[in-house]
Amino acid sequence: MHMCHMGVQADPESFVRQSMRVGLADGWGGSMMGTEFSDIIFGTPTPIETEANLGVLNKDMVNIVVHGHDPSVSEAVAVIAETPEMIARAKAVGAKGINIVGLCCTSNEVTMRHGIPMAGNFLQQENAILTGAVELIVVDVQCIFPAIGPLSKCFHTKFISTSPKAKIPGSDFILVEPHNAEEAAITIVGTAIDNFANRDESKVFIPEHKEKAMVGYSCEAIIGELDGVTNSFVDEPGTYKPLIEVIKAGVLRGAVGIVGCNNPKVRADYSHIEIIKELIKNDIIVVTTGCSAQAAAKAGLMDYEAKELCGDGLKRVCDLVGIPPVLHMGSCVDISRILNLVHTVAKEWGIDVTQLPVVGCAPEWMSQKAVSIANYVVASGLDTYLGIEPQVKGSDEMMHLITDGSRDMVGAGYIIEMDPAKLVTAMIDGIEAKRTALNI
Ligand code: SF4
Repeated sequence: MHMCHMGVQADPESFVRQSMRVGLADGWGGSMMGTEFSDIIFGTPTPIETEANLGVLNKDMVNIVVHGHDPSVSEAVAVIAETPEMIARAKAVGAKGINIVGLCCTSNEVTMRHGIPMAGNFLQQENAILTGAVELIVVDVQCIFPAIGPLSKCFHTKFISTSPKAKIPGSDFILVEPHNAEEAAITIVGTAIDNFANRDESKVFIPEHKEKAMVGYSCEAIIGELDGVTNSFVDEPGTYKPLIEVIKAGVLRGAVGIVGCNNPKVRADYSHIEIIKELIKNDIIVVTTGCSAQAAAKAGLMDYEAKELCGDGLKRVCDLVGIPPVLHMGSCVDISRILNLVHTVAKEWGIDVTQLPVVGCAPEWMSQKAVSIANYVVASGLDTYLGIEPQVKGSDEMMHLITDGSRDMVGAGYIIEMDPAKLVTAMIDGIEAKRTALNI
C-alpha cells in the first residue's frame, strides 16, 4: 500500500512484481484460507441441484434475499428459515413458506452447500427488488449497490446490513458476529415474515425465467465424480488421472476457468455466455466461479442438457462422468479451488503449470478484488484473458510489462481483447499452442 502513495515507488516493473507478490499472498494465503475455513465450518460442497434467475422468487412465499460475500450471515439465515417455528410463523401470516434466494457470491456459497436458488448476479441485484416480491434483503460485505437503500424504500422491502465494514445509508443495521449469528438470524427472518403483510400486490411482477443447474463442484467433489467412473485405462482413485488422460488423448482439448464480475461498460452476461458456449463447442471444459457462474447458470449451461451444445469429446465426458460441461466451483474467493485443481493436475501430470492447456478468463471483470485475483492467477503461471481493458493503458511500458514482460518473470501474462468473439478465438489458439508444445 505504501508503494502506491505519492512520492514512493515510480518504477513500473517494481510495481508489477510487487502486485504479483501481493496477489500471490492474497490468493494462496487469504482466499485459500477463506475457502478452507468455510468448508471446515459449513461443509465441503458436493453436487446439488438448484435453479437460477429471477423466476426463483415465489409470489406465495416470504422472499428473503441474501447478498454479499461472507457465508456466515447467510448460513445462519438459511438454517433458521428452515425451522418448524419459522415456517409456522410464515404460514400464520398467509404465506406458503419461506423462500431464501441469493445474489452475488453469498448466493454461490449457500447454493453450493444447500442448493439455495440464485436470483442473479451483480448487475441483477436491483432487479430482484424491482419484482416487488422481496420482503427483506440482508447483506454482508462487498458488491452491494448503495442504490439498494433508496430503491428498497420504493417498495415494502426491508434492507438490513450486518457488517461494520459495510454500513449503507437506507439500511437497518444489525451487527452479526459468530457469537450472535443465530439470534440475529431469528430477528432477520422474523422481520421478513412480519413484512409479508405489507406487500403491495399491485407492484408485484416476477419474471418467469429460471433454469435448472447442478452446482457444488469442489475439488473433492470433482475427484469423487472421476472416481465414480468405471475406467478401463486409468484406475487410480483419488486423483485427476482420468481427466489428464482425456486431455492427453485430445477428447478434451483443455480447460478454461471463467470467473469474475459483470461490468456496466458492456452488456451484462453476454461475454460470459458467448465465450462459454464457444469453448464447450470446441471440447474445452469450463470451470467457473463468482458472477460468471451465475451467468452460466441463468443461461442453462450448468444443466446436464447443456451437453447438447458441446463438441463430441466433451459430450462423451459429460455422459460418462454424469456432469454438466460447465462446473460451478463456488464464489470468487473459491478461485483458490480452481488453482488447487490446476496445480494438482500439473503435479500428477509431471509438468509445469505454465505448460498445461489451461487458461483463466475474466470477460467482464470490474472489482478491485478481481485485479488481485487475476494477479495471483497470472503469477501462478496461467495466462489470463481479460475482456475489459485495465486502467493502465496510458502507459506503453506498463501494457508491455503485464502482457509480454511478465512472461519472463512468471511464464504467463494477460491477453486483453474487448471483442468476446476475438477473445475466445485467442483462448482456443492459446490452448492449441500449448498442446502442440506438449506434443499432444
Ligand atoms: S464476481 Fe465480481 S461482481 Fe460478482 S460477486 Fe464477485 S467481486 Fe462481486
